[in-house]
Parts: sequence; C-alpha cells; structure tokens
Amino acid sequence: MCDLSLAELKNYPPADTRILMIESQRKWQALPFHRKKLVLGISAMRHFRLELEQVGYEVDYRHEADFASGLRAHFQQYRPPQILAFQPREWGMQQILTGLTKDLPLLLLPNPFYILPREDFIGWANSQKNLRMETFYRWMRQRENILMEKNRPLGGRWNFDKENRKPPPERTYPDPPYVEPDGITRAVMETIQALPGLWGSASDFRLPVTRAAAMDWMEHFFRWRFADFGPYEDAMRSSDPLLTHSLLSAFLNLGLLHPREVIEHALQAAQQYAVPLNSLEGFVRQILGWREYIHGMYWYQMPDYRRVNYFEHQRALPRWYWEPEECELACLRDSIQMVKQHGFTHHIHRLMVLSNFANLTGIHPLRLSEWFWAGFVDAYEWVELPNVLGMATYADGGLLASKPYISSGSYINKMSNYCAACRFDVNKKQGEDACPFNYLYWDFLEKQREKLMYNPRMAVMYRLLDQKTNEERVSIRRDSARFITRLPEDDDRYPFEYDAG
Ligand SMILES: Cc1cc2nc3c(=O)[nH]c(=O)nc-3n(C[C@H](O)[C@H](O)[C@H](O)COP(=O)(O)OP(=O)(O)OC[C@H]3O[C@@H](n4cnc5c(N)ncnc54)[C@H](O)[C@@H]3O)c2cc1C
Ligand code: SF4
Repeated sequence: MCDLSLAELKNYPPADTRILMIESQRKWQALPFHRKKLVLGISAMRHFRLELEQVGYEVDYRHEADFASGLRAHFQQYRPPQILAFQPREWGMQQILTGLTKDLPLLLLPNPFYILPREDFIGWANSQKNLRMETFYRWMRQRENILMEKNRPLGGRWNFDKENRKPPPERTYPDPPYVEPDGITRAVMETIQALPGLWGSASDFRLPVTRAAAMDWMEHFFRWRFADFGPYEDAMRSSDPLLTHSLLSAFLNLGLLHPREVIEHALQAAQQYAVPLNSLEGFVRQILGWREYIHGMYWYQMPDYRRVNYFEHQRALPRWYWEPEECELACLRDSIQMVKQHGFTHHIHRLMVLSNFANLTGIHPLRLSEWFWAGFVDAYEWVELPNVLGMATYADGGLLASKPYISSGSYINKMSNYCAACRFDVNKKQGEDACPFNYLYWDFLEKQREKLMYNPRMAVMYRLLDQKTNEERVSIRRDSARFITRLPEDDDRYPFEYDAG
C-alpha cells in the first residue's frame, strides 16, 4: 500500500518485499464519481504495478469488495511477518487500518508525500493564536529556506497579490501533453464507461497515468504557462479550465509527483524561462503554503470537521450541478460543464462561482463538498473538505478564512469574460433580468447579519447594506426568494455518509 512513486520504496528492496495493491469495489461505488477520476486512479495503479514488476517486485494485485477484505485475504494467503503501510491520506481509511492493526501485523509509517510531517503541523498549530495560512506560509518559507535571502523574503515582500489580479489575457497557451491511452488505460476506460450511476464520460480520457508522463506535464506547464501564472491566477475564461494553472494537483495527490520536487523544478524553471518573481512566488505559495496548510488543518480538525455548518444551511444541491445544460447563469453553467467534461476547473471557478453560488443560495456545505469530491479528478477528502468547508463556504465559522469568499456579479464580471454572453445583466440589481449574484449577495449578508456583522473585514459591506433604501431591501428579499424557490431540486444521488472502504 503506497502512493505511486518508486522513490518512496527505496528502503524496501524487491528481495525482501512483496507489494500489496487493492482495487476496492466499495471505494469506487461510494459516490457517483466522475468517470475520468476513476480511470485516472485505476489506470495509474495498474501502470504502477507494471513498474514495480519491471524493477523486480512481486505484486499481489487484488480486486476485492472492500479494502479490509483485501488485506485479510493477502494475510491469509502469504502470512507475512509484517505488513507496512504509509498512513493513509484520509481519516476514514486511517480508521479502517487502525482497526485492522488489532488482528493483523500491520504497522503504519509516516506518510512521506508531504513536505511537513503531520506532527510538525500540530506543533505549529498549538503554538498559534489563530491558524491563518499566511502565518503558516511565512513560517514554512523560513523553515525550508525557500525564496529567502538573509532571513528576508526574496524581493523584499512576502506576497505579490497586487500584481496578481489581472482579468483574463487575450493570448492562448499550447495544450498540455495529453497522452494517447495505451491498452491498460483503454481497458479501464471501457469498464468504467459501461458502469451505471457515474458522472461524465471516460471516452475522451487523455491524462497522464505514469510518473514519466506527469513529469512531462509539469515541464510543459513550466515552459508555457508558468510566467503568466501570477498575473492571471485569479482570472477565468469560458471553456478554459486551465488558463494559466497547472493541473498538477491530480498528479501530486496520486503520489506521481512529490511537492518538494515540484518546487525544486519550479525554482530551476524560473531561471531557465526568466519567470517573474510574482509568478514564482504565487506558485510556491500554492504548494508550500496552501497545500501543506490544508493537509495539516484536515488532520488537526478531523473528525469533527465534517460536521461544521456555521450558517446552518440545509438546502440540497440544485440539479444544475449534475445537469448544467438548463442553467441560465453563464458563469455557473460553463464552470459545471467544464467539470462534467474534464473533471476539472481551476481554483477561481471552484471558489468564486461554484461555491459562491452554493453558499449564497443556502446549500448544505457537506452536499457541496461531496459533489466536489465526486466530480474532480484531483479530489480526495483530505484536500476538498477543508477547501469547501473552510475556505470556500466559511462553514467552519472562520477557522481557515478570515471572511467568507462571497461576491456579487461585479467580481465575476471583472475577472472573467462570462457576463457579456449571459442572459442576465450584471449591471442590474433588481428584477427578473438582474444578475442573481447581485441580489443573492446582499440577501445573504442580511440573513447572516448576526454571524458576520462583527467581523471587521465585513464592516464596509454592512455599512453599504445599511445605506440601502427600504425599497431596495424589499426587492433584494423578493428577488432572492423567487430565485431560490425556482432552483431545480436535486434527485438525491448519493448517500450522505461516505463509506471509506
Ligand atoms: C471549493 C474548492 C475545492 C477544492 N478541492 C480541491 C481538491 O479536491 N483537490 C485539490 O488538490 N485541490 C482542491 N482545491 C484547491 C485548488 O483549487 C486546487 O488545488 C487547484 O485548483 C488545482 O489546480 P492546479 O493544479 O491547476 O493548481 P495551480 O493553481 O497550478 O496550483 C499549484 C498547486 O498548488 C496546490 N494548491 C493550490 N491551492 C490549493 C489549496 N487551496 N488547497 C490545496 N492545494 C492547493 C495544488 O496542489 C496545485 O496543484 C479546492 C479549492 C476550492 C476552493
Ligand atoms: S451576469 Fe451574473 S450570472 Fe451572468 S455570467 Fe455574469 S455574474 Fe454570472
């Protein structure tokens, strides 16, 4: 049981080691997963099995009903004196494995696929008054001595946010190195395509499933998009799920790439391609800062974190999230369509469209979280849960974010090309043709007044809300209620409790 990199097996030579790999039916069926996500995971596992065999490992590759049965069957057959596993990345699996240590000779080793060990994050968190990412990130820069110059941040500043808020560029970028599926991948695609109850299509799957192909993908990003990463990192363009982003999350989260090597390559590539510091710092911040912080926060807060719901939202996810074709909001429809087609959109679609809309309309945060988990090729509970419940919906009441990431239509208009082609008018505030984000935003602030008005970062918005006339307030309430009542209901696609096995 390991993530998919040979480097982490260096202390376990083939002569003394048998590798167990389990394809668990229950895991596949736990949510209505995107077909491309399943193809990616399963094909990468099967390719890794070949790599292991090519360097001399014996692999016990099992197709089992669930993970625990696979482990027990392996033990029955081989009676190994010891079974080693890296700590799983997810709470549910950690519980299963911890349970199995009682009757199997199973030992859990620290998970090597992060820069910061879990215990070190806990040490940092226990020493802090509040757990903001910015403080963590600065601490990590110093600890790892990355982008530092004599104990000071390179370039004299910790962040370059001001330079990094440009609307989408005119220029386009070459396609990343999509991979023609080989026989192994084609077989997985056929099986998955035929399975009922899943989402999206596997038939045009072209993502890397080996470490070598993931490395090519990474180098291609550094060559073509990296220099523009910073300025356009908050921008959105219709039908462009990547823009200047990398999609490295899919390969990092599978273990095909290690975050430390991605940062090392980024530092080299920045010199090679004369990448400006605002892009280099912006990218390093994502991996050394956000990714490590989210991982640490997940383990610091679980299992209670799954139950947070600060705004007490209860609504089911609108059917649009599965069938976007009927949705009239151009930004929302296109963002969901990209997820349905590719299993991916970049961060700002996730934050400022998909989650912003769900939060403003009172969707239960766990339902949204499970949709992200099911639909994205890079989604695993450890990373989507804190992002959805903490960063995107403020469902944890401000543990991660200092204020909710919500906005009216003007933010989306400024940072994307969506509004020009939308049936709603982003400049209108009320009535059937007004952009729904406009009235939903103010309605949300009014409804959550008690919970948000004392937050200093919300003070300006509450002052503006208080300046609205009675007539404006009535129309905000009326338009929002009308819009929310008409949302198409979901057909309850999946069970609320995810089964980790
Ligand atoms: C609602 C919501 C749900 C999300 N769900 C996931 C998820 O399931 N899996 C996932 O990996 N990321 C998730 N993220 C974080 C982020 O959106 C993705 O990591 C990023 O969009 C992946 O695309 P990329 O590789 O092109 O990223 P880039 O913009 O190219 O960034 C480089 C890398 O930084 C890391 N990174 C950046 N931001 C974050 C973050 N907030 N949390 C963790 N890592 C980060 C990723 O590994 C990413 O590959 C979510 C964010 C939001 C707002
Ligand atoms: S007008 Fe509103 S709904 Fe339409 S694309 Fe713009 S922000 Fe989205």
